[in-house]
Amino acid sequence: MQKRPKLSVVIPCYNEEQCLEMLHSRVSGAARAAVGDDYEIVLINDGSRDKSWEVMQRLSAGDPRLVAINLSRNHGHQLALTAGLDLCSGDEILIIDADLQDPPELLTDMRAAMRSQGADVVYAVRRKRDGETIFKKITAAFFYRMLDKITDTPIPLDTGDFRLMTRRALDAFLSLPEQARFIRGMVAWVGFKQVPFPYDRHERHAGETKYPLGKMIRFALDAITGFSTAPLRFASHVGLILTGLSALLVLYIVAGWLMGAAIPGWTSLMLVVVVLGAVQMFVLGMIGEYLGRLYVESKRRPLYIVADVAGPVMGHASLGY
Ligand code: UDP
Ligand code: MG
Repeated sequence: MQKRPKLSVVIPCYNEEQCLEMLHSRVSGAARAAVGDDYEIVLINDGSRDKSWEVMQRLSAGDPRLVAINLSRNHGHQLALTAGLDLCSGDEILIIDADLQDPPELLTDMRAAMRSQGADVVYAVRRKRDGETIFKKITAAFFYRMLDKITDTPIPLDTGDFRLMTRRALDAFLSLPEQARFIRGMVAWVGFKQVPFPYDRHERHAGETKYPLGKMIRFALDAITGFSTAPLRFASHVGLILTGLSALLVLYIVAGWLMGAAIPGWTSLMLVVVVLGAVQMFVLGMIGEYLGRLYVESKRRPLYIVADVAGPVMGHASLGY
């Protein structure tokens, strides 16, 4: 049987052909500086439409430490990352983005932090974010704070998936079967000792963000529904308040009728119809978000499908199904 490497670096890639060579050389340098030759790099091609897979195959042919996994289509960042985490085999696992916004050279210091604090997870916290739009920074800052308020699991603020984990933390994480995956939250849920590691986020090496607004909203909804039932509680609170208000309204209406002054009131009538309609749709939509996810989970489909593998894979090798 092959031996597990000391370190696996897992990197999901979607249309990153311009980043891959630089990524490979910087990650290899950082890994070598940290653990010598005893590492593997796991690249996951998440159905890229550019030449990412060709580049990965070429890189893997020239580097026995590089494993490239080609998913059957674009499954999305969190599922691509899950595929890599499933298939990697190291004792320690570093998760990093392909665009080099997170410097791989921090690995040595992250490992030192892991050892000195006896931690199972060292998660990188963004002190500064270069090269990202004001809109993204504001929405992200708001989102993480709101999430923190409504979740029962404390999820660290301003933290992406860039983190170093031990094998036991990863194995615990891999036991969570859900389809709608908010990985940074799931890792937090797993527990063990988790410590922050502040760093400055850089600009993308090349290309542009693969998270347009639509994907960001979906990601945020996965996070909220995956980690909190606060919106459902909110729905029942709104229902309760509206019930109270409508009781008052009933008294008012009956009193008006008894006094024979029931006809005027188009404005108030319309207000009630419009407001109630809107609140009902909103609450229904919220319930729908949960219901839809329940439906997706109930199908128990595999999380991802692997099409091809280049290089030596020895991880769980379940290939997702
Ligand atoms: N990514 C992916 N599949 C997708 C979208 C993104 O594998 O459908 C990868 C992408 O290649 C990158 C990481 O996920 O390595 C984070 O994406 P990106 O850098 O575009 O997000 P941002 O940093 O702008 O939030
Ligand atoms: Mg990025």
